[in-house]
Amino acid sequence: MGHRKPGGQSAGGIYLDYAATTPVAPEVAEAMVGCLTADGLFGNPSSITHNFGHAALEAVETARREVAALIGAGAGEILWTSGATESINLALKGLMLSRQARGRHLVVSALEHKAVLDTAHWLSGAGFEVTALQPDAGGRIGPDAVASALRADTALVSLMHVNNEMGAITDIPAVSRIVRKAGAMLHVDAVQSAARLPLDVSRLGCDMLSLSGHKMYGPKGVGALYVRRGLLPALVPQLHGGGQERGFRPGTLPTHQIAGMGAAARLVRERLDGDSRRIAALDARLLQCLEGISGTAVNAGAADRAAGILNMRFDGVAAESLLLALDGIALATGSACTSESVEPSHVLLGMGLSSAAALSSVRFSFGRYTTGAEIDLAAGRVAEAVSVLRSIAA
Ligand SMILES: *Cc1c(COP(=O)(O)O)cnc(C)c1O
Repeated sequence: MGHRKPGGQSAGGIYLDYAATTPVAPEVAEAMVGCLTADGLFGNPSSITHNFGHAALEAVETARREVAALIGAGAGEILWTSGATESINLALKGLMLSRQARGRHLVVSALEHKAVLDTAHWLSGAGFEVTALQPDAGGRIGPDAVASALRADTALVSLMHVNNEMGAITDIPAVSRIVRKAGAMLHVDAVQSAARLPLDVSRLGCDMLSLSGHKMYGPKGVGALYVRRGLLPALVPQLHGGGQERGFRPGTLPTHQIAGMGAAARLVRERLDGDSRRIAALDARLLQCLEGISGTAVNAGAADRAAGILNMRFDGVAAESLLLALDGIALATGSACTSESVEPSHVLLGMGLSSAAALSSVRFSFGRYTTGAEIDLAAGRVAEAVSVLRSIAA
């Protein structure tokens, strides 16, 4: 399998797994390095008794403004976390635990990331009631499904904006109107939309929103939780310690991670137009090539799909064998968290695919640094491998 050596050049290999993680932008890496060594901003942002601390704090607050600007929020509405998994845990547990007087009912969808599903599962074990919405015949989680699940005791609805396995886009503004009317809160997992779609928390109409650094050309191990102004006191912190982040997420702030996420957010904002136009063109090109292979179909149902996440099934071909045959091309069969087992993806099953169809599906995900030549090469190799595997099976 081709890979890049640390600090070295590509040893070959095509990376089409951007939905699992993106490379860090060079500009981001540079910002991070500036926060580590003795000649940089290595200070503890909480050490306000000296300039080392002040300078680090300034870097943290600049980054907070950048992330806020990316989603149309105020800097005071952004909390730093260790990643979207933690953001989601804080949003779901923090709000459900504090709003028990209002209700103990949580609504999620069956297509959510495990970070949401496992947290919901934990909450149900702790005595909360959870409804997991099934998609409609077109594979969508629509406002109607949400409306029929809402109850007087529904405290929170948590849905993803762009699905990490299929790229399907949920109509969050439409969902929000229903949720607001019912007096419940809305949390949005925007991890996959952050670098793909323009985001604005007012337009989305969400109360909380989770982001991850490493899905938007920033580093792993850092994330953010947007909490609408005034709502923060309604969250029960999930960590206890030194009082950082106004006590809602204590722990020494990792200046380099945060500066990296801030720089990544600025780059996304500056480049979203150009990046998305280019990625849409690559997507159309890949789709055209793959649809030229007989017995293929896109797994996205009737939902709008974000360019750059393309889930295809190849009838009669085991995705695991296809990936083995495509040595040097980095692809995924399902979400990375479940790729060690050959169980069909819960998302594809949730979409109504048969187990066999789900097990012949492959996710192509790409982004800012993917080239047309890589797409062409990958598509050609896929066509070849599918035909070989089918001839063996015949
Ligand atoms: C990757 C991902 C997460 C988890 O993010 P981490 O920062 O890796 O914890 C949550 N939701 C979606 C949709 C994701 O793709």
